[in-house]
Amino acid sequence: MAQLILMPGKERSALKQSHPWLFAGSVGRLEGRARPGDTVEVLADNLRPLGRAAYSPQSQIRARFWTFDPNESVDDAFFKRRIALAVARRQRLPALRGQAGLRLIHAESDGLPGVIADQYGDTVVVQLTSAGADKWRKAIVAGLCQATGCARVFERSDSDVRGLEGLEPVTGWLHGAARDEALVIEENGVRLAVDIAGGHKTGFYLDQRDNRALLGQLATDCSVLNCFCYTGGFSLQALAGGAASVLSIDSSGPALAQAQANLALNPQLPAERAEWLEADVFDALREFRKAGRLFDVIVLDPPKFAPSAAHAERAARAYKDINILGCRLLKPGGLLMTYSCSGGIGLELFQKIVASAAHDAGRSARIVQRLAGAADHPVALNFPEGEYLKGLLLQVD
Ligand code: SAH
Repeated sequence: MAQLILMPGKERSALKQSHPWLFAGSVGRLEGRARPGDTVEVLADNLRPLGRAAYSPQSQIRARFWTFDPNESVDDAFFKRRIALAVARRQRLPALRGQAGLRLIHAESDGLPGVIADQYGDTVVVQLTSAGADKWRKAIVAGLCQATGCARVFERSDSDVRGLEGLEPVTGWLHGAARDEALVIEENGVRLAVDIAGGHKTGFYLDQRDNRALLGQLATDCSVLNCFCYTGGFSLQALAGGAASVLSIDSSGPALAQAQANLALNPQLPAERAEWLEADVFDALREFRKAGRLFDVIVLDPPKFAPSAAHAERAARAYKDINILGCRLLKPGGLLMTYSCSGGIGLELFQKIVASAAHDAGRSARIVQRLAGAADHPVALNFPEGEYLKGLLLQVD
């Protein structure tokens, strides 16, 4: 095994915080040969062993620790153990037990850097985003099949971040094959079809499960505006919760078509209360403002405006604009559910942006609740970067 020797003092984040990333600037030299994704032994400058990591020569994150135990082998059995642990972790939590749609592995936060796995019924969708994860594809699939009993594993490794690791996009069946019928999950009593091959991410935004349920509780008798609705997850929960009307906006035609198909999968819901609009949210909200249209509850769940801290400034402007518009379209006392899923925008910054948006809209607002991703998207304490989804439930006077 090749050895990766750190610059003096650069062992600190591994030693004192168990942080799983080693940046290029921390690395002194590589002794021996290692190809992308190979496991290397990591040593401090004084040659103290720190653990074993996946080497990624093309990435600014030059290595990701698999283990901080210098003697733990990284082999098929290692992946089997880590995957079984991740699955067991979720089974311990009552809210997650029995969920048809469930994130099984949340990458670094489950001790498996670069590995995402989402279960939809009897199918698991994996996304491998680092050179190390890519290398262990077979062991990861075997571990997932064993831990879940699922017979179908589909790969959706087409996320942009693979480019940073020098990896090409890869999609397709790794185990089993597609069935003719659509893959349908039930979430909070609502049926939703998931397009694992063509949908966003692994097909669905499982992270918002609890927040969608919360909207259901808040929406009774309300006029609801759901911005960036994707396949209608929030919209259907609002209808299930007894909303008087739900207007949903997305710029993607296929997402809206899927949303309407999802509504049709739920004949118990009052379809006549739903309206769907294919439009740019920024434009549509400006039009509503001109027309003097107001709502009781507004959801803003935009795409990742800031994929990294480098985009934070432009993204901040976009978050602010959308939240100004949202505040202006609320009736006095109305509720705003506003989110950012940008890793580059921290909790504190997001709250500042929303505060200044409310100010600019001439409205005063209070935090009713702070919102985050569901428990199957945990944030490991040694990996604060895992906290990408943050939200605020605000009451706006
Ligand atoms: N709230 C959804 C997930 C939203 S994902 C859920 O719970 O499932 C973000 C969505 O925003 C995507 O569907 C994308 O098509 C849409 N989108 C991105 N930019 C947009 C824009 N400017 N106007 C309208 N929709 C946009």
